Amino acid sequence: MTSNPLQQALKQYFGYDSFRAGQREIIEAHLAGRDTLAIMPTGGGKSICFQLPALLKTGVTIVVSPLIALMQDQVTALKENGIGATFLNSTLSGRETHLRSQAILNGAIKLIYVAPERLFAEQFIEFLNIVKNKIGIAGFAIDEAHCVSEWGHDFRPEYRQLSRLRQFYPDVPVIGLTATATERVREDIIQQLQLQQPYVHVASFNRNNLYYEVVPKQGTEQSYVDLLRQIKRMQGSGIVYCLSRKRVNEIAERLREDGIVAIPYHAGLSAKEREENQTRWIRDDVQVMVATIAFGMGINKPDVRFVIHYDLPKNIEGYYQESGRAGRDGEDSHCTLFLGYGDLETIKYLIAQKVDPHTNEPLEAEQRIAQQQLRQVVDYAEGVACRRTILLRYFGEHFHGDCANCDNCLTPKPMEDWTVEAQKFLSCVARVKERFGAGHVIDILRGSMNKKILQHGHESLSTHGIGKDRSLDEWRQLSRSLIHQGYLTQTTDGYAILKLNDRSWEVMRGQRNVLLPIERDTEPVTVTERETSERPVDVEILFERLRLLRKNLADEQEVPPYVIFSNATLNQMAEQQPTSRKEFAKLSGVGAKKLEQYADDFIAIILEHHLKYPPAEPEESTTSRVKQESVTPKSKLSKASTQRETLAMYENGLDIDEIARDRGLKPATVWTHLVQLIEAGYAINCDRLVTPERQNVIYEALEAIGGDSLRNLFDHLREEYTYDEIKIVRAIWQNEKEPL
Ligand code: ADP
Ligand code: ZN
Repeated sequence: MTSNPLQQALKQYFGYDSFRAGQREIIEAHLAGRDTLAIMPTGGGKSICFQLPALLKTGVTIVVSPLIALMQDQVTALKENGIGATFLNSTLSGRETHLRSQAILNGAIKLIYVAPERLFAEQFIEFLNIVKNKIGIAGFAIDEAHCVSEWGHDFRPEYRQLSRLRQFYPDVPVIGLTATATERVREDIIQQLQLQQPYVHVASFNRNNLYYEVVPKQGTEQSYVDLLRQIKRMQGSGIVYCLSRKRVNEIAERLREDGIVAIPYHAGLSAKEREENQTRWIRDDVQVMVATIAFGMGINKPDVRFVIHYDLPKNIEGYYQESGRAGRDGEDSHCTLFLGYGDLETIKYLIAQKVDPHTNEPLEAEQRIAQQQLRQVVDYAEGVACRRTILLRYFGEHFHGDCANCDNCLTPKPMEDWTVEAQKFLSCVARVKERFGAGHVIDILRGSMNKKILQHGHESLSTHGIGKDRSLDEWRQLSRSLIHQGYLTQTTDGYAILKLNDRSWEVMRGQRNVLLPIERDTEPVTVTERETSERPVDVEILFERLRLLRKNLADEQEVPPYVIFSNATLNQMAEQQPTSRKEFAKLSGVGAKKLEQYADDFIAIILEHHLKYPPAEPEESTTSRVKQESVTPKSKLSKASTQRETLAMYENGLDIDEIARDRGLKPATVWTHLVQLIEAGYAINCDRLVTPERQNVIYEALEAIGGDSLRNLFDHLREEYTYDEIKIVRAIWQNEKEPL
């Protein structure tokens, strides 16, 4: 595992073995003194892009960050990795500021975090000049750079001043970082920050590890039950977003009554309560934060496992950003949207209430934009195509679909032919001269004799009562679907009048068929059902013990647990069970400082665990194919007996299904056993599992893109190979790369 100096530094300081997509290029550009703009989605790994160069260059790097909470977080995390960092902002006393300034001038600090308004205060400018002469300024990093743009969703006037950096320090490279997806804002950033021929990296906004799903709301009670069930299925931290403060309080309270540790967050709470609640959630003292969208901006918690929108979001960009707070750490996470038509009406009503506070005139342009944005949300929620494709299209990105990680891809909705009903509906729209909305048209179809119908004489239309065989809900669904599929147009003037278009006539003339997705009452697919990587019980027990230790250490230091080790690191630790510092150092996320500080504590727990669950030494392998000496296990496979039973049967010539049947296991479990055995160093002839030809192709894919992400491999192989096949070959490949 030889690597170049950049990679070595990555491991030493941050404990990671390889760069994520784009990181290396950005870092190299910045190191070469070039201005840089890094656009990556949340969780993409922006911080390292300026932190690593800061460590490698002489002088200090100034990081501009809009939120004090964010600064504290990052500084804490850096210190945990043994990196000299500090922040200067208005919350500090004069004495504290003085101490920190001294530390900077002594050269003990590589990164200084400041708020933008501070940067141009006269005193600070003077101080920076001294810093520049004494130790040098390596670069400026502008975090959340979209705040300079009025076109973004989070404009901050203080950020505007940043254009002056260029005048003051023309030769210091600037790197801007943001998760903003729109082109307009990107251009604005380059201009406002006066970046000179910058290296621009735009990462894909696809978040592979997020599972997207939409759940229809069925009445107030039932939808609460669905929410509760959903949360109970989830592990780890989560956020539930609601539309109003009232609803936030209600839901938080009900969840608590039902045994979920949940707390509220909204602008109606005092600043102190908000901060307390936030801290308790970040530190894993409570599991669920129920919040309005006031919550989340600048929250860096990487191990959020689920984000549920219990009410509809206002627009797609908002939904992307809010749901994107899940899974920053790259681990599988869940994004659920509850779609309720009642909520839709509420939002429409709120939009219609938008008036100019001075004149009381309706704000028509704003209303129109809000309506359009809402329609896009409904399009997403009702869409039957891959959710990713719909989301990413909104950001101008073309995604090939079939992501294998959204509800529509995993359990496509069956489609039914509703052409005849569509024809009835559309001719009724024609009969009322395209002057009414969907509600009235449906009333006519269902033969209502209400006042409005009688008033217009619509009871005598030929379409009156021809749709009695379908329910109100079915007609509503059809009408929405006709609009979404472009077979019908709805005016955007707030009256939502139905108009026919060219496609409507094609349907009426029988030139087009209309298909309608059918809602089923099936349970949503859960993460565990999708990825059947069941862990042996003892690994699970060890994981819990390691997690407890992490929480204790975190509480002692008053930091969030993830600052000590990420969940990814903890998972690896539980599975590999290192018992020496040397082995411990190999874990991803363990750099030099953390090794020094924590290895012994965690190893102690592992050794203690081994007293009760001894790591099994593998038996002599009976395979003839491979040399015996390679059969020492690499990691200690504790619960080896069940795996070995599987192995014995496999080697007696049984296939996976037979073993599963005989042992009363799921086939997936048998596959997992075999993968674990290979990982543990057992030499197994896998040709019966994956044909040599197929092994070769998977091998090539591994060489090409590495083994970090199963899903990437699955995609790379055009989904022609199963996850099980890939896992098997990956295990062999990894063993060969790291011989025992
Ligand atoms: P962003 O600021 O883009 O939202 P962060 O910089 O906070 O993302 O990184 C998200 C998570 O990914 C963090 O937990 C970080 O430690 C982790 N991370 C970043 N780069 C890597 C890498 N090369 N390998 C593994 N994990 C990484
Ligand atoms: Zn999909």
